Amino acid sequence: MHSMRALQLFGDRDLRLEEVAAPPHPGPGEVQVRVHAVGLNHIDVWGFRGMAFAKRKLPLAVGAEASGAVVAVGEDVTHVDVGDRVVMYGAMTCGHCKACREGRDNLCENVGGVLGFHIDGFARDFVNMPQRLVVKVPDGVSLQEAACAPVAFGTVQHMLFDNAKLEPGETILVHAGGSGIGTAAIKMAKAIGCTVITTVGDDDKGAKAKLIGADHVINYRTDRFEGVVRKLTGRKGVDVVFEHVGADTWNGSLLCLKRGGRLVTCGSTSGVSTTMNLMQLFQQQYKIFGSFGCTLANIEQSLHKMATGITPVIDAVFDVADYAQGLERLESRKVFGKVIVTL
Ligand SMILES: [Zn+2]
Repeated sequence: MHSMRALQLFGDRDLRLEEVAAPPHPGPGEVQVRVHAVGLNHIDVWGFRGMAFAKRKLPLAVGAEASGAVVAVGEDVTHVDVGDRVVMYGAMTCGHCKACREGRDNLCENVGGVLGFHIDGFARDFVNMPQRLVVKVPDGVSLQEAACAPVAFGTVQHMLFDNAKLEPGETILVHAGGSGIGTAAIKMAKAIGCTVITTVGDDDKGAKAKLIGADHVINYRTDRFEGVVRKLTGRKGVDVVFEHVGADTWNGSLLCLKRGGRLVTCGSTSGVSTTMNLMQLFQQQYKIFGSFGCTLANIEQSLHKMATGITPVIDAVFDVADYAQGLERLESRKVFGKVIVTL
């Protein structure tokens, strides 16, 4: 039988590059993709460390967002051809429920799991996917760049434009501007003419954040970001806060908002619990959005942005054999932008 490489998680922090059976010829409505690049995200770090809440069967192929080229198509596949460059959606959604039919796959009522976390992911040579869950990559976008679309760029697109409804001319605070999603948020907000304030952990990252468009940079280790934001905005506050840090920054983030301001969050790397002043919430008429994943349309929009020059910042590229080093890089405070793994 045909075999392939798959990077499998056997237990907490136990990753091995194994030879496994390759998938069969794609079935009706399915395409087979040769995976070329995998983007790393914090969800991969959680998966690697082991999270009690994650129901999964080990060993499990890792990798939650990826790009590749179609090498085979099954019957009834109409919208992609062999040779097309594509990215894959990061969750096995049903395509039939109300949410899926309305194009809101990230609210699928029968989701079969997040790839690379609950079910086998993309760090393997070949993967079969339903054709509806692959999106073509436009010309001019590299497969390494495209690998940042399904989770990182897609998540940011969903947060900023579907949820927070960021508009040209508004002011936004982007937390952790050196992270994969932070760099994407800075670039997307600048591209529509927003004023961008961002927090970073050191001055070197601050300089890099300015180079990709941040108007103001706050080193959160030396300055209290709430105070600086209030000063920078003439005490008014910002229209939108882009959150993903969590417990450490949550209340400061709320203090940065102007009345009626919007906070959108997709993460809590510093801790999942905090307390909140409810009187402040309603008196200031804040709008708080929880955001997870993105829609297929968000992936198309992200790829389109990349084609027009809003490209991901790529920090480092590792071979699949060095995937664990890539995760270490992602977790380190040195990372600026996305970490990519190639197969
Ligand atoms: Zn569904």
